[in-house]
Amino acid sequence: MLGAIPKPLNLQDLTACISGFHPKEQVRAADPEHAEFNGEDLKRGLKEREFIAFFQPKVSFATGEVQGVEALVRWFRPGHGAVSPLQFIHRMELENLVTPLTEVLLAQTCGYLKAWARRGHVISASVNISMQCLSDVSIADRLHELVKESDCDSQNIILEVTETEVMVDVAKVLNVLARLRLKGFGLSIDDFGTGYSSLQQLSNVPFTELKIDQSFVKDSPIQPRHRTIIETSLDLARKLKLKTVAEGVETRAEWDLLKSLGCQQAQGYFIARPMPGHQLLDWLQMWQPPEEA
Ligand code: C2E
Ligand code: MG
Ligand code: MG
Repeated sequence: MLGAIPKPLNLQDLTACISGFHPKEQVRAADPEHAEFNGEDLKRGLKEREFIAFFQPKVSFATGEVQGVEALVRWFRPGHGAVSPLQFIHRMELENLVTPLTEVLLAQTCGYLKAWARRGHVISASVNISMQCLSDVSIADRLHELVKESDCDSQNIILEVTETEVMVDVAKVLNVLARLRLKGFGLSIDDFGTGYSSLQQLSNVPFTELKIDQSFVKDSPIQPRHRTIIETSLDLARKLKLKTVAEGVETRAEWDLLKSLGCQQAQGYFIARPMPGHQLLDWLQMWQPPEEA
C-alpha cells in the first residue's frame, strides 16, 4: 500500500505515489550486513549445522495454556553471533537452499517435540515454509517421511506458509499444499494481510490456521484501523473455520483486546521471546498465565 489517490486519477499524482515504491531487493542490496556473506557461506553453514531452531510459545487466550511453539531459525555464524532469519532467508531462496533449511528445522523440531512429550508436554510445533519450497512436488512426501522417521506425528506439525518475492508456479504450490494437508500437516497462513496476490489465488487451499500479522497487532488498542483489520480477519477466519493466532503480542493492552475480540492463540514478547529448545521445559515450569482483567 503506497498511498491513496483521490479520483479523478491524474498522471502527476500517480507518478508521485509510485515514486515511493522501493523494491525490497534494492533495500537488501544496500544493506552492508546482508552483503557480508554469500551462497558458499550459507552452504557451509548448513553442512556445519550452524542453523539452529529457537522456539516461541503459542498460548490459548481463553486458558493461558501453552498449546504450541513456533520454530524460528537463527544462524550461529562463527564470529558473527546469532544472525536473524530476516537477513538470510531471501538469499537462501535465491540460492535454492531454503528446502534443505526447512528439513533441518523440521528435524530439530521433531527431536524436541519428542523430548517435551516424554516430559509430559504434548504440544504442536509450527515450522515456517517458504512458498519456494512448495514448488517442488516431492516435498510433501519428503517432509512426511522425515516426521515419521523422527517418530513424530504430522498432526502435531503446522506448516506456516510465508510468501516470497521469488516467482513460484501457483498451480504446483496448490497441489503440494493439498498433499501436505492430506498427510496430516496443519497449514497456517503466516503474516495474514501483508502478502501479495498469490495467496488470494490459494483461497481453495485447505488452510487450518490464520496468523494475524504483528504489524496489525501493534498498537491495536489505540489504532482503530488496526482493530478493524483484526476484527475483519477474525470474522473471515471464523467463517472459514480456521484457528486464529495473533503474533507480536507485546503488551497487556494488546492481549486484552485480542482476547476480547475472540482470537484463540497469542504469540509475542508479552508471553515469551523465542528461546533455545533446551530452555523450554524450564520456561513451562515458570509460566503463569496473565490474570483476568
Ligand atoms: P514469522 O514467521 O512471522 O515469525 C514471527 C517473527 O516475529 C519472528 O521474527 C519473531 O521472533 C518475531 N516476534 C515474535 N513476537 C514478537 C513481538 O512481540 N514483537 C516483535 N517485534 N517481534 C516478535 P524472526 O525470528 O526474526 O523471524 C522473522 C521471519 O523469518 C519469520 O517471520 C519467518 O517469516 C522467517 N523465518 C524464520 N524462521 C524461518 C525458517 O525456518 N524458514 C523460513 N522459510 N522462514 C523463516
Ligand atoms: Mg511464522
Ligand atoms: Mg508471521
